[in-house]
Amino acid sequence: MADGQPVADCLFCKIVAGEIPATVVRETENTFAFKDINPQAPIHDLVVPRAHYADAAELAAHSPELTAALLVEAGEVAKAEGIADDGYRIVFNTGAHAGQTVFHVHAHVLGGDFLAHFGS
Ligand code: IMP
Repeated sequence: MADGQPVADCLFCKIVAGEIPATVVRETENTFAFKDINPQAPIHDLVVPRAHYADAAELAAHSPELTAALLVEAGEVAKAEGIADDGYRIVFNTGAHAGQTVFHVHAHVLGGDFLAHFGS
């Protein structure tokens, strides 16, 4: 059962813990935002909860408060990146058929240009 505890072989748990380097965009008590290593837009950041939940559905089921905090933080990241006024996309790939490859929930924050599509 998901309890938010760190998972030993989770890439994003290791990034949050500072065990794997990342280009940090913003940090809060409960969230961590960093640059995607393979950007799909001029601005492409990932926002994760420090706590480990596999995907957006699991996070929402276990902590509506943290789900809300993650969305609020995605907006703060967009402001910090200067893309809030022009518009941006928040994407939660959820499960294998959606293309989720890292099973620590993360919001993609994409912007910096007109976005025709992402991930297809
Ligand atoms: P997903 O496909 O929705 O699970 O997104 C995973 C994202 O993590 C992809 O956009 C990858 O480019 C990104 N990613 C994978 N490894 C790293 C890393 O070490 N640092 C930053 N981003 C990463």
